[in-house]
Amino acid sequence: MRQTLVAGNWKMNGSKAATESLCKAIIAGLNSSDTGIVVCVPYVYLSDAAKLTEGTPLDLGAQNVADQSSGAYTGEISASMLNEFNCKYAIVGHSERRTYYGDTNESVASRYSQAQQQGIVPILCVGETLEQRENDQTFSVIDEQLDAVLNAAGIESFAKAVVAYEPVWAIGTGRTASDEQAQEVHQYIRQKFAAKNQAIADQLQILYGGSVKPDNAKGLFAMPDIDGGLIGGASLDAEGFLKIYSASK
Ligand code: PEP
Repeated sequence: MRQTLVAGNWKMNGSKAATESLCKAIIAGLNSSDTGIVVCVPYVYLSDAAKLTEGTPLDLGAQNVADQSSGAYTGEISASMLNEFNCKYAIVGHSERRTYYGDTNESVASRYSQAQQQGIVPILCVGETLEQRENDQTFSVIDEQLDAVLNAAGIESFAKAVVAYEPVWAIGTGRTASDEQAQEVHQYIRQKFAAKNQAIADQLQILYGGSVKPDNAKGLFAMPDIDGGLIGGASLDAEGFLKIYSASK
């Protein structure tokens, strides 16, 4: 049985005060469960969040990680730096990074490997744009995005990674994939991995992301190949985020 994971991506939102109140409210609402829960906070709040979450079931993640280990890379944050703040996860290849900051399949593969070299679990985001979906390119886009990492890091690396399917047209738009649309892609991804290594495919957590809300989470999470969610906007409200977490049980 795969453990379910619910991951919040705060993006560039919040403040020191909001980090404290949100972490405290989430922790207060957690009950014992097999579902993993993580918040990916802005870099500058990792230190505060690490203190607030220490010893609690709420795990911590970053929203990105450098594609190099150290050196003259102004503005970047390395995996070893993240490690100093109890970061268990790092998102890599989020569509906002790919679209606005030039992250390529190759640099995403490097970020993925940098995270893993420091024992950080990468949450590898993949997904097609609306135009690509309408041109029947969904599976070829997913293939390209996954193959870049598979070729660089190998299938075995996915024993310690999470994949998030995030159709770009559903992110922050209020328009979510239907349960069946999401399941179709999740199944495709799992079968792709199964063709290389059945055991790794069976245990790989594949999250869905794209306008997940308390009222649509249950249906999505009930699908056989959906193992939880990567939650943007709805993770900024503790009550809503906790409802999504409950829906995953
Ligand atoms: C995301 O940014 O990963 C995301 C899924 O955002 P939202 O839930 O707001 O669509």
